Amino acid sequence: MKALIVVDLQNDFVPGGSLAVPRGNEIVPVINKIQEKFDLVVATQDWHPKNHMSFASNHPGKNVYDTIVLAGMEQVLWPDHCVQGEKGAMFVRGFDERRVEAIFRKGTDPEIDSYSGFFDNGRRKSTGLGDYLKGRGVSQVYVCGLAAEFCVLYTALDAIELGFETYYLEDATRALSHEGFREAREQLTRRGGRLMVSDQL
Ligand SMILES: [Zn+2]
Repeated sequence: MKALIVVDLQNDFVPGGSLAVPRGNEIVPVINKIQEKFDLVVATQDWHPKNHMSFASNHPGKNVYDTIVLAGMEQVLWPDHCVQGEKGAMFVRGFDERRVEAIFRKGTDPEIDSYSGFFDNGRRKSTGLGDYLKGRGVSQVYVCGLAAEFCVLYTALDAIELGFETYYLEDATRALSHEGFREAREQLTRRGGRLMVSDQL
């Protein structure tokens, strides 16, 4: 059984949003088109309280993209983004969510960030996504969405670790940087994930 995981296809991550991924909007029609190829479609949403510690605005004297240590791990400080219930956190207009059976929200604990759709960055809390997929009999997962070298990559790496056959849909994601995208693809294949483009589905 094959599942598509659509990661963080939210207004703040596309042009016009506060943490825009260049050309992030271009993947919307691709993701709409491929959904019919899957038995199950789920989505994740970055879903932060206003006082989230990944926001530079919550660290007086720090700037966006500075790094700090948070809960024992290196943390990049981001612009405020995907605040619970605000427009930036909503799915991108045009994303066809009719077939999305479940939505997994992450980054809700103010003290810790969560790039992966499965666990927070310290692996202290699970979102329930792994158990949900296993409960539905899923063995293969295909990952797409935003951003390629952060939430999509970490979702894919956790899927591999949980024992799913994992595919990273290269043309259904966009990265913040070319270098980040290259490194993400390398890391993914090194860990046993597979690269694919949507025409191969
Ligand atoms: Zn976030």
